[in-house]
Amino acid sequence: MVTYEKLRAELVEIGRRLGERGLIAGSDGNISVKCADGRILVTPSGLNKGRMRPEDLVVVDESGRPIEGGRTASSELLMHLFAYARRPEIRAVVHAHPPYSTAFAVAGKGLPGDILPEVVVFVGEIPLAAYAPPGTESVPAALEPFVAGHNAILMRNHGLLTLGRTLEEAYNRHETVEHYARILWLATRLGEPVSIPPEDLKRLKDLRRSLDAR
Ligand SMILES: [Zn+2]
Repeated sequence: MVTYEKLRAELVEIGRRLGERGLIAGSDGNISVKCADGRILVTPSGLNKGRMRPEDLVVVDESGRPIEGGRTASSELLMHLFAYARRPEIRAVVHAHPPYSTAFAVAGKGLPGDILPEVVVFVGEIPLAAYAPPGTESVPAALEPFVAGHNAILMRNHGLLTLGRTLEEAYNRHETVEHYARILWLATRLGEPVSIPPEDLKRLKDLRRSLDAR
């Protein structure tokens, strides 16, 4: 039997933080982490992700076949498998419906990549993927143009997807994007947001590349 005790505890904690920060509602959102043996630990469908127990999680192989767990894996499992297949260095995927980020996605607006230094360095560009019915094969198809080169993608009329080399990194990107979307929303009430000067934007992007290469 596979246990992944530490990863289970970490994943449950990330779910709790998503709930606590108001980034999910009801039973929405899903989280996964790739284990050392290539299997994937993923949230079940139906449960509130803010109040899970370690034993609620489901283990699947890299093609999505259930290995362990009494529950059904997330209906968005395909999206997680797709991200791992395209990004071998990625070990964690977080998907939720954070209100400000999702508001931009619903309005059909992406988030500009040149406004806040911490977003440039720790997240990068945040593109907007085309609409795809949740849980279908259309979701990976909509993400296809962006998943290779981005760590955060807005999903039109749906929510936000973030990727990371650890659960902590994928979660932090989620939190950073939502905080950014909120700041941007407030800034646009005051006027036109101003971009970072081009010479410093280049320095910040170089810094991101050096962090990515680590
Ligand atoms: Zn969703």
